[in-house]
Amino acid sequence: MSESDKNADELMIYKKSGLLLEQNLLKNTIVRLIEEAMTVRYHSYAPYSDFYVGAALLTESGRIFTGVNVENASYPVGLCAERSAFAAAISAGERIFEAIAIYGGENGKEIGYCFPCGMCRQFMSELCGKDFRVIVAKSYHDYRIYQLKELLPYTFEL
Ligand SMILES: [Zn+2]
Repeated sequence: MSESDKNADELMIYKKSGLLLEQNLLKNTIVRLIEEAMTVRYHSYAPYSDFYVGAALLTESGRIFTGVNVENASYPVGLCAERSAFAAAISAGERIFEAIAIYGGENGKEIGYCFPCGMCRQFMSELCGKDFRVIVAKSYHDYRIYQLKELLPYTFEL
């Protein structure tokens, strides 16, 4: 069975069971993105805030690129997980993006929904369509999906 047949089958299963999730993302795609974000989070470099964030970015070609926050003693120099995932994808030649999952919080504390900061929202608006999906997750089962236009309805453009 080809990958597209498998996806079509899964789509039917989710439609039949009512599990087709919002924003045209399949449940297994969402879970995979959250899983990647959760896993990569352990590579965060966050000695100043102890706030560890992982991001997993899905491209149109189906590849997933991950990123973590990378802090710096000079605080503004630090980089968010979302932008580091985009940098990895763009470095690999990707230009069209579908969705990003974000998972993060203070080390050792309960995980809440970790929304992208304002700078990352503007960053994504340059590279993504208004219907780009942003998944903020507490777990595989507890997450929210937004379109970028909901998180940043008015963008700066030149
Ligand atoms: Zn950010």
